[in-house]
Amino acid sequence: MYNALDENAVLEGVKKFGPAPGARKMMDNEMLHAMESIESGTYVTYWYEKKKIECGRIGSNSKCFCGHLFSCHNDKYFGKKFDVSCKNCPCKVFKFVPTRPEECGMYWLVRRKDFNVHKWRAPCKCNHTHEDHMPNYPLRCTKCGNCDNFRAYFACISCDGAWEVRFLFNLLDYYFHVLFNHLKILINIKQDSIFIV
Ligand SMILES: [Zn+2]
Ligand SMILES: [Zn+2]
Ligand SMILES: [Zn+2]
Ligand SMILES: [Zn+2]
Repeated sequence: MYNALDENAVLEGVKKFGPAPGARKMMDNEMLHAMESIESGTYVTYWYEKKKIECGRIGSNSKCFCGHLFSCHNDKYFGKKFDVSCKNCPCKVFKFVPTRPEECGMYWLVRRKDFNVHKWRAPCKCNHTHEDHMPNYPLRCTKCGNCDNFRAYFACISCDGAWEVRFLFNLLDYYFHVLFNHLKILINIKQDSIFIV
C-alpha cells in the first residue's frame, strides 16, 4: 500500500499511480458535465447560497434524490414552463444527491472489503437511504415511522455544509464565467508583457 504523508508525496503518488478510482470517476463526471454545459449553453450547479460558492457541476450522470439520474428529468429550466420533474417517477423537482461516498468525504468506505459502491446510497440519520424516502416534500421515510424529513448523515465535500436541496440553473452566469476567464487570460498576458519589457 502507498502511504503519502505530505503534499509532495501525494503529488508523486498521483503522478505514478494516477488518482484513486473514485476520484477518477468524479473528475470524469466533472469533465463530461462541463462539456454538456458548453454544448447546451446551460450551466447547472450545486450552489451554496450562504457562502456563494459552486460545490459541483450537475449533468447527465448526477443523481437525484428520487434515485434517477439528471438525464431522466425534464430540462425546461427557464420561463413560465419551468419543469425539472422526473420522467420515471412522481419526483417534481431534481434534487442533487451524492452518488459515491467520496463525494461526501467518506473515503474510508470504499476501502472496506465487502463494500459495493453500486449499492451505496447517501444515508439519512434514520439509517435509511434517500431512495427509501418520498421523492417530494415532506421527504418522509417509507421504512420507519420516526423520520418525517430526510436529515442527511453526510456533508458536502466542497463546502462542508449539510446536504440540502439546492441547485442553480444559470445561463447568463455561464457566459459571464467564460468572458471573465478570457479577460483574466488577457490581463495576465498583458502583465507578462509589461514585466518582460
Ligand atoms: Zn428526481
Ligand atoms: Zn425519479
Ligand atoms: Zn430518514
Ligand atoms: Zn427511515
